Amino acid sequence: MMDDDANAESVPTGFTVDPRETALLAPYAMAGSDSAGRLHPERQHAYRNPFQRDRDRIIHSSAFRRLAHKTQVFIGDMGDYHRTRLTHTLEVASIARTVGRALRLNEDLIEPLALAHDIGHPPFGHAGEDVLNACLRDEGGFNHNQQALRIVELLETRYPNFPGLNLSREILAGQRTRAQKRSMTDTPLSPTSPQDALLEVQVVDAADSIAYDAHDADDAVELGLLSLHDLEESELWRQAGHSARKRYAALDPQQFRRATVHEVIDRLVSDLIQAAQRRLAAYGFGSPAEVLACSDVAIRPSAGVCEQKRELEQLLFERVYRHPDVLSQRRLAGDALRAMFDHWQARPATLPEPFDRIVAIEGARRAVGDYLACMTDRYALEAHACLEG
Ligand code: MG
Repeated sequence: MMDDDANAESVPTGFTVDPRETALLAPYAMAGSDSAGRLHPERQHAYRNPFQRDRDRIIHSSAFRRLAHKTQVFIGDMGDYHRTRLTHTLEVASIARTVGRALRLNEDLIEPLALAHDIGHPPFGHAGEDVLNACLRDEGGFNHNQQALRIVELLETRYPNFPGLNLSREILAGQRTRAQKRSMTDTPLSPTSPQDALLEVQVVDAADSIAYDAHDADDAVELGLLSLHDLEESELWRQAGHSARKRYAALDPQQFRRATVHEVIDRLVSDLIQAAQRRLAAYGFGSPAEVLACSDVAIRPSAGVCEQKRELEQLLFERVYRHPDVLSQRRLAGDALRAMFDHWQARPATLPEPFDRIVAIEGARRAVGDYLACMTDRYALEAHACLEG
């Protein structure tokens, strides 16, 4: 469904009380009818609430479509089994909605937050991010979470009346929180300052972490970077594997791996829901405002599972993200991106629309950063080959 009514006349933005929200949502959930609206006021939609419209705007954006051809961790010709940014994003949305529904949060808000959470990633995964961050050091650096805000507030050009997608303020605030903290669950929080994230935002952050722990392990084994035996060093994987063997009588190695991945996700999601339910019961939040004022993150795993996650992530860091094949691909990709940055920085007049407009406002370097960041891996490799040719 296209969202083609964005140029409607300016009228009040509040969404009328939705009986579905009233019946289903907990008092601490962020209801669409209480949304603070959009920067550019728009008429209410006849049958979609504000967060449903946000979801549709994100899905119809070109940045979202490009996630299909952006790398998660593994760069280069590594077959077609492993996750892309798009499939990772859909896994995060699926896990986050499951958790959100169990906690009676607003799934309509969770979904667009999840779908937009990685929209700012440049080509070549974290290798691309590191290179752009270095190239833009004097301009404030580059961060994929910050870039997601630039995309939805400035760079997408779907509507004639305003730049960006004019998303609800709750979506923008959630993404801004992500840009300020690398991960809510991993970052120690000040015990006195409010953590400033709605529960729906916290759910997406926790779901992101669950999705990449499980699928990076799965992808790494498929790609031969890690063996099932290696993964047994992780207690989380070992316990999940034990449950998988108990559940199924006979499994070949591939079936065992997949059954274990399912079990890992199930354990992490179940623990997250139970730990969150305990904290929500203890805090007794009566409104989203009380959530925002609290200095604790309520949606995070139990202490025991947190430790198991850390152990698995450390294993993945050492054996997978630092694997010689992954590092050499990262170097090649980084060199290509740096060469392209230098090329276009010297020729800003050749940048396509809308990046040519950024040159006049924020300078050539930021404009080139935006242009390169929007490229898919494939497009960037082809563009680099053209420069070399
Ligand atoms: Mg992610």
